[in-house]
Amino acid sequence: MKRIVPWRALVDLVLPDICRVCGVTVNTRDGLHGICDTCLDQVKYRGKDGCRRCGIAYVGHVDSNHLCGTCLTRPPSYHGATSVCDYAEPVRGLLHRLKYQSDTSVLPSLATIVNRSEWADPARFDWIIPVPLYIGRLRSRGYNQAVLLARLLFGNRNERLNTFLLQRVRETAPQAGLDGGERRRNLRGAFSVERSELLVGRCICLVDDVLTTGATANACSTVLLKAGVCSVEVVTMAGVRVKR
Ligand SMILES: [Zn+2]
Ligand SMILES: [Zn+2]
Repeated sequence: MKRIVPWRALVDLVLPDICRVCGVTVNTRDGLHGICDTCLDQVKYRGKDGCRRCGIAYVGHVDSNHLCGTCLTRPPSYHGATSVCDYAEPVRGLLHRLKYQSDTSVLPSLATIVNRSEWADPARFDWIIPVPLYIGRLRSRGYNQAVLLARLLFGNRNERLNTFLLQRVRETAPQAGLDGGERRRNLRGAFSVERSELLVGRCICLVDDVLTTGATANACSTVLLKAGVCSVEVVTMAGVRVKR
């Protein structure tokens, strides 16, 4: 998507746009913001090579529209999962800065990455629900990165974006470093819904930064389905690609 905005050229004269990955000056006339061509070329965009149910993708596997072995026997509670790109550099570093260093200067880079992807809002969701943070974590970080990413993916003023219907009611230990079973136990009782009458029969899109084992998405989805939603699909900025 190339768009030339005249005032942008003026802003660039005063405040040159810098690649948040490598630090070079970005030529914004190419429609790039926050990331240079070379770093953008490193982004590994996802095609339809993830499992159509749980979203997991394997190294070297490009079959489209397949179901993984786990989903044939024990599928997650959510019905589908899409990731814009692989959880690899430079996206991994950008997301890490957003999540752990309160560095929102990476948002233009992530927005450019989304704009250059094949991602398009499928417009079939009644509610777009970012995975919530516990209130204590939200206060210390100042924002929920999943909300910021949902705005990048679905537009800033999307009326379907909702941050109160699903709540995180319990503080949980960070999921990183836990195995699948530990992740599930860690999340037990962590989420609950508000105003379930607004959820009954609705199609939900759950948004998060990274899809790793799917344990968080599964815990949210289970609570939403119990409240009566008709379907839950997961959309994440990045997804982990695993070795078989
Ligand atoms: Zn760069
Ligand atoms: Zn699967």
